Amino acid sequence: MSSLYAMPIEKLRGVGKKRAEQFQKLGVRSVGELLNFYPRAYEDWSDITEILDASDGETVCIKAEVGAPFQKGYTKSGKLIAKTAVYDESGGMELVFFNNPYITNMLNYGKTYIFRGKVDRRLDGIQMVSPMFSDPDKTTDIKPIYNLTAGLNNTAVIRAVEQALCLLPDEVNDPLPKHIRKKYQLCDLKYAIKNAHFPESTKALATARKRLVVEELLVLNLGLSSLKTHKRAANKNIVKTDYSAEFEKLLSFTLTNGQRRAIADCIGDITNPETSLNRLVQGDVGSGKTMVAASLCYTVIKNGMQAAFMVPTEILAEQHYNSLKELFKNTDINIALLTGSLKPSEKDRVRAKLESGEIDLVIGTHALITDKTLFNNLALVVTDEQHRFGVAQRAKLLSKGNSPHLLVMSATPIPRTLGLIIFGDLDISVIDELPPGRQEIDTLLIDSSVRTRALGFIRREIERGRQAYIVCPLVDEGESDLASAEDYAAELMLNYFSDIPVGILHGKLKAAEKESVMRDFSENKLQLLVATTVIEVGIDVPNATIIMIENAERFGLSQLHQLRGRVGRGDEKSYCILVSDNTSDTAQERLKTMCATRDGFKIADADYKLRGPGDFFGSRQHGLPPLSISSLADTRNLELSQQIAEYVIKDSNNLLDDRYRGLKAEITRLFKSTGDETLN
Ligand code: ADP
Ligand code: MG
Repeated sequence: MSSLYAMPIEKLRGVGKKRAEQFQKLGVRSVGELLNFYPRAYEDWSDITEILDASDGETVCIKAEVGAPFQKGYTKSGKLIAKTAVYDESGGMELVFFNNPYITNMLNYGKTYIFRGKVDRRLDGIQMVSPMFSDPDKTTDIKPIYNLTAGLNNTAVIRAVEQALCLLPDEVNDPLPKHIRKKYQLCDLKYAIKNAHFPESTKALATARKRLVVEELLVLNLGLSSLKTHKRAANKNIVKTDYSAEFEKLLSFTLTNGQRRAIADCIGDITNPETSLNRLVQGDVGSGKTMVAASLCYTVIKNGMQAAFMVPTEILAEQHYNSLKELFKNTDINIALLTGSLKPSEKDRVRAKLESGEIDLVIGTHALITDKTLFNNLALVVTDEQHRFGVAQRAKLLSKGNSPHLLVMSATPIPRTLGLIIFGDLDISVIDELPPGRQEIDTLLIDSSVRTRALGFIRREIERGRQAYIVCPLVDEGESDLASAEDYAAELMLNYFSDIPVGILHGKLKAAEKESVMRDFSENKLQLLVATTVIEVGIDVPNATIIMIENAERFGLSQLHQLRGRVGRGDEKSYCILVSDNTSDTAQERLKTMCATRDGFKIADADYKLRGPGDFFGSRQHGLPPLSISSLADTRNLELSQQIAEYVIKDSNNLLDDRYRGLKAEITRLFKSTGDETLN
């Protein structure tokens, strides 16, 4: 098989230079890659429907004889039209073809074919327009449908694949050793390849695809776990003294055990000359991750080095900047903010001080990773809400120091199966408790008929001195049917909250405006904040106890969980009101999940099952190699492959065992495209 990857596709009959270029557009250069180019769908031509049984609008296969010579003519608009009639035992139907002058030579009067197309039941009889057809003697029952590109049609791909299959040797070297296939009931590679392209039966197809999917996910998993072992570079920024106890004295509360454990894990890494810190701190919303990061920054800075803290939004950057500035006000730590919306002169000033080492700690957005930002001795990079940053961006920030330590914090719980994939190269510390005294958040689902009552409830909370958020429909997405944040807020102020100070926060505001709204809200000068989802990530105002979310069904569950996490951050009882008029079963089921649980991990799993991994990955942002047959949304096989990976690592002594040579070669091949040298 491996030699087929070295054989250019032009070696196949009928594939010349032009064809080869077309295939190349689809990522297929060699015969081996063609065999790995699996159909995107299949058509089942074995399931024959009788003409009279076919219902209107359905796409079916009909096996029938051409029962009349073609009649040709022209439509009013001048199109060539050819009609004939075909019959099976149940009855007859008319076939119509447009602009196909050759059709009369392709279908012979008196011969039987299988026709596949959409059935149109009309008053004057049954009709099929431009069906596909094939000779019943030559048809493979299940027909593969490939991704195509201009000039390359499905039949051409099928022809090429047929030839490629003939080149497979009798004994294909299977990357999955026999004992593994047996243990996990997976078919052999040759059978899998053949049946994934031209299935003998639906069952054979399922068996074949399962084996290929599991293999690909297994290779992905093994590759990622070997990245993990390879990337353990020696510690280039050894920290000598642990200052975390001194840090805790700055706080007005004591840290939870979960926070202490996470800090200790990190300190263990940065003080160890053998390893550097490469860790994900995962903790539900409100578990106090910022303090873990702050503690680590403190220790690193006290040891004479710089730290950078990267967050996804300007609001969050400003918030962290303000709270850390306050926390460190009686220390000698120099702290600065660097975001895109600072004046150029200010940015330059901050950058100059970073380069000279005058600033110890910088908090910022993507502005941190531009080429202009240079550091004196950057030893620690913290990224908050990492799933919003791609692997590449993280790498870019890391390149600004000499292999700095990396601490990644994520509040959006990632389902375990996906976490292993995304964060496969990181160690994980989990903060599994909330600070003491936090109350349950009551979550209610209502429809808009009781919104007025809900607003009355919000009003009473505000009169008791509490603060509230109302999340309105998006303005940024240009959804004209939904009220923009400003119109929506104006209506609320006019009708319900005319005597209450209300702030508005949305993506279109200038950074300075956002900052002043946020500051006023956190200082309790504003009691109600009407906002778009810009408040989703990280905002922390403990006195806010109620959040109402309009059009709740439009949000992902993990996003709702994040939004809900804006309340319940202090000692007071808190509430989350989800407003939705969508009565579909799925919407209701999802929103009820929100009401039933506060466990972010359960919610993330439910979200993942309902919506797939889209929420967790931007388009290829994750920097994973392209998959040819499997999908990360395939939870079941993802889990199975992880199980097999664990077994293989043990069984093969980290792939050193010769029986796994083939599998190792596959790992190298899959990861070649990401340019990851460490795997070779
Ligand atoms: P998240 O994990 O969501 O980022 P934050 O770091 O924003 O959480 O912390 C949430 C709130 O809890 C903040 O107001 C923070 O000051 C407070 N907090 C953090 N740790 C503790 C603690 N150990 N005891 C009491 N309050 C804490
Ligand atoms: Mg946070």
